[in-house]
Amino acid sequence: VRSAFPVISPVTGKQLRVYEGMTWDEVEQAIEQAHEAFLAWRRVSIGDRARLMLRLAALLRERADHYARLMAEEMGKPIRDGRAEVQKCAWVCTYYAEQAADFLAPMPVATDARKSYVAFEPLGVILAIMPWNFPFWQVFRFAAPSLMAGNAAVLKHASNVPGCALALEALFREAGFPEHLFRTLLIRSDQVEQVIVHPRIRAVTLTGSTPAGRAVAAQAGAALKKTVLELGGSDPYLILEDADVAQAAAICAKSRLINSGQSCIAAKRFIVVEAVREPFEQLLVEHMRAARVGDPMDEGTEVGPLARHDLRDALHRQVQESLQRGARLLLGGVIPEGPGAYYPPTVLTDVPKGAPAYEEELFGPVAAVIPVRDEAEAIQVANDTVFGLGAAVFTRDEARGERIAREALEAGCCFVNDFVRSDPRLPFGGVKESGYGRELSVFGIREFVNIKTVFVG
Ligand code: NDP
Repeated sequence: VRSAFPVISPVTGKQLRVYEGMTWDEVEQAIEQAHEAFLAWRRVSIGDRARLMLRLAALLRERADHYARLMAEEMGKPIRDGRAEVQKCAWVCTYYAEQAADFLAPMPVATDARKSYVAFEPLGVILAIMPWNFPFWQVFRFAAPSLMAGNAAVLKHASNVPGCALALEALFREAGFPEHLFRTLLIRSDQVEQVIVHPRIRAVTLTGSTPAGRAVAAQAGAALKKTVLELGGSDPYLILEDADVAQAAAICAKSRLINSGQSCIAAKRFIVVEAVREPFEQLLVEHMRAARVGDPMDEGTEVGPLARHDLRDALHRQVQESLQRGARLLLGGVIPEGPGAYYPPTVLTDVPKGAPAYEEELFGPVAAVIPVRDEAEAIQVANDTVFGLGAAVFTRDEARGERIAREALEAGCCFVNDFVRSDPRLPFGGVKESGYGRELSVFGIREFVNIKTVFVG
């Protein structure tokens, strides 16, 4: 049986087109073909792999506008953000094309052997389960290092971005990668377990919500397959009494509104020391109010609709429940009239423990301000969460900021006086329920390899 994958415009709510899903026979064939492609690809030199990766980067740059339009159409990303996302994909391809040979070079180790070393061998076909919020970047962050390491990939993309999923598959082919090395599986999430347990699938990577990660990790665990999980976050931004409040407020608003608020590493909880709470709140509200909300196809739009109507409605419920639990509304909080999955930039303050805005991930343009007495309470509140992806601290005292970032915050990516963002040169990933494993940098490329000991006696 084939499932249908309709594309519903988040701008109009209307159905734009429908894609036909794959039957299990087709899925199985794609996995087998990917495995066949892997057997040849693993013998291709890193230099030749790199040449293809650079061609891919060039194609991405050439077609940035086209792919940005596709994302805008399917999940509402503002067109300018879409172009920037595609450029970043080209960057990660170039980065691994240039670095992979070093990252994968055998590491000699002196032992009592005549010769002993560590080699990094590919694993085989990797299953990637990816979300809709950065339909291109999330995929490339995994695919560039994994393919450079000699693996093949099958992609189960989010159901609301089937056009992006197919465009990605075509892109690898058009860049000259061996046919079937990168395949898209148009399947529903309840068909994924069958793929996970398939003997040709050697490991699984998932970016998405914590419940999705938990389900996939359990299935992969039962089948004894390695997983890398990049899950949700509720990144705390600490604004201390000695912060440059104007700078902090501008950065906080910008980070909260990344991708219309739908980013795992968007700033979500603003933990402000009481002494600077008033000016911070005022400036944060000003910046959030000034953001231009509109049609994602318009060049001037900074905040588009949310990706789906159900996600918008779930966000609104989180806001309303937070208000019922005692938070105060400073801006927004009302679903606008008219079509589209729009939600206005919203600021909540005095968000109490127990409120969804304190405890859960808010995946949209909603800022939660939590006032605290001092640094110690700020750190305690920052860590009072199941998540641990990113965090940031604002202070004019750099040493103080660095100490808090390094020693006090329970998160994978901690920034001082800047907003959390990913960079191909730095590892990216979380602790606690934000997942495990790392993407990007040397750590990312070593996730899906057999770290092999070779001992010559
Ligand atoms: P999901 O986490 O459910 O979706 C992410 C991917 O996982 C999709 O490809 C999805 O497929 C797949 N998936 C979901 N459940 C399973 C499962 N049990 N087994 C196998 N695959 C699965 O995100 P949603 O779209 O439902 O968004 C819900 C919330 O998740 C958001 O509001 C946000 O809080 C969080 N989220 C966080 C992201 C992040 O980067 N931190 C990214 C996306 C969402 P399908 O689309 O077919 O269901």
